[in-house]
Amino acid sequence: MPCDDANATRLIDVSTTILPSVTEAPVSAVRSRIMRSVSTKNSGPELRVRRALHSAGFRFRLHDKRLPGTPDIVLKSRHIAIFVQGCFWHRHEGCRYASTPKTRQKFWSAKFARNVARDVENKRDLEALGWRVIEVWECDVKKERFFDPLLDRIAELSRA
Ligand SMILES: [Zn+2]
Repeated sequence: MPCDDANATRLIDVSTTILPSVTEAPVSAVRSRIMRSVSTKNSGPELRVRRALHSAGFRFRLHDKRLPGTPDIVLKSRHIAIFVQGCFWHRHEGCRYASTPKTRQKFWSAKFARNVARDVENKRDLEALGWRVIEVWECDVKKERFFDPLLDRIAELSRA
């Protein structure tokens, strides 16, 4: 099945097309494509998770800046913070979308290392504040029955 939302592939496109004279696209258009791919906020995967939670009767806050890492979805009464993570940027382990661009590898590995370190730090800080953290991966959200494991995880953490 072809994948319509492979950030990884899009990103490699951007990093090559951004070279001068390779493309006629205005810089601003290229930049906004990059910015869009950087964040999963309000992206397809996040919206899909939000819709599923909403129809299952959950009430939640979005992008709560008061919490470490600004979790995408916050189930306040259960003290659960959910991040919908892009596999490429957040280096989903063993995932085919977590590829590394072939050019500027030093740049990319430094960037990825920072992202991963920040994720670890945010999770640790949230847990220290009594929050439970769930990471939902973009590639899993594409699966038909992605919601069942998430519901299980929420139930499990709600009991804990
Ligand atoms: Zn993945």
